[in-house]
Amino acid sequence: MSKLLLVLFTGSESSLGSGFAAALGLSFDVLTLTGHAETNTGAEKELVAGLTSLPPADALASTIATLSQGYTHIAATSNMRSKDVMARVAGILDAGMVTDVTLIESPTRFKRPVLAGSIISIVEVLSTPVVLTFRPAGFAKGEAGGAPDQVSVSADASGKTVRISQSVRGGARPDLSQAKIVISGGRPLRDAETFERVIGGFADKVGGAVGATRAAVDSGIAPNELQVGQTGKIVAPDLYIAAGISGSTQHMAGIKDSKIIVAINKDPDAPIFESADYGLVADLFDALPAIERALGS
Ligand SMILES: Cc1cc2nc3c(=O)[nH]c(=O)nc-3n(C[C@H](O)[C@H](O)[C@H](O)COP(=O)(O)OP(=O)(O)OC[C@H]3O[C@@H](n4cnc5c(N)ncnc54)[C@H](O)[C@@H]3O)c2cc1C
Repeated sequence: MSKLLLVLFTGSESSLGSGFAAALGLSFDVLTLTGHAETNTGAEKELVAGLTSLPPADALASTIATLSQGYTHIAATSNMRSKDVMARVAGILDAGMVTDVTLIESPTRFKRPVLAGSIISIVEVLSTPVVLTFRPAGFAKGEAGGAPDQVSVSADASGKTVRISQSVRGGARPDLSQAKIVISGGRPLRDAETFERVIGGFADKVGGAVGATRAAVDSGIAPNELQVGQTGKIVAPDLYIAAGISGSTQHMAGIKDSKIIVAINKDPDAPIFESADYGLVADLFDALPAIERALGS
């Protein structure tokens, strides 16, 4: 019988996966690597690995592959980590894999965007098991179910690499891929200090995550992990504010699932105004502080 194992790197991802599981039409269990899943996602069982932090990808992949035995489908949301880990899982299981699934035609046939969404391909997986990553924005939230049975599983966190240390830039800001509000800046931010003060300061004011264009990343204005777009992160917030961003197809590929896009650009002919829900023709160095003042303390 077909059954899905939904891999949650953190318990907070559970709300993103229930709609995907419902669209796949299979009963499912969740494997929660850190933290706990929400209790009403419709999963039959929650496998709780109880890791305090996520080990490097090679260790995670062998743990997931071991715990995936007996499942016909193994899936995780699309993000930088899952691209790394789930590809390794597919390798270990010698399984077919489809990434960035946006629509399910059948349990073996999936739609996925390629080339920044300019082409939609349909892919059929001819073997079992099937390893998938999916874009949660493409799937409505699943219907709530009862509390799943919880089973503790042992997760071997030892691999061929070991993390010596890790520091988080941007402090306690929300995760870019899952944030409800994203403030992004482009090339005109000039340098890292200005970017952090203007874009980071505004994001902190509204409780948002910070994003950047590739031009900003390539010029050393913003760190690599903040890049949004075709070759960066895909975001789908309720509100995306693009400050000093021209609106290249590669950048827009990463933000098109945002509910509301606000563009601040001093060039009234900037392409981003064609896709923005709200546009402000203004200098971002005047506009962002003015909005901050209007929001009050
Ligand atoms: C294969 C490939 C992959 C790529 N992947 C990505 C990707 O993942 N993500 C990505 O972002 N890009 C990507 N790019 C790069 C992309 O093509 C653009 O070069 C980039 O997005 C432009 O960034 P930008 O908008 O910051 O800069 P610019 O295009 O230079 O635009 C800056 C904008 O700021 C406005 N501006 C200037 N000063 C101010 C001010 N004071 N106030 C308000 N507005 C102001 C200007 O009018 C202009 O519209 C990729 C390119 C290639 C070839």
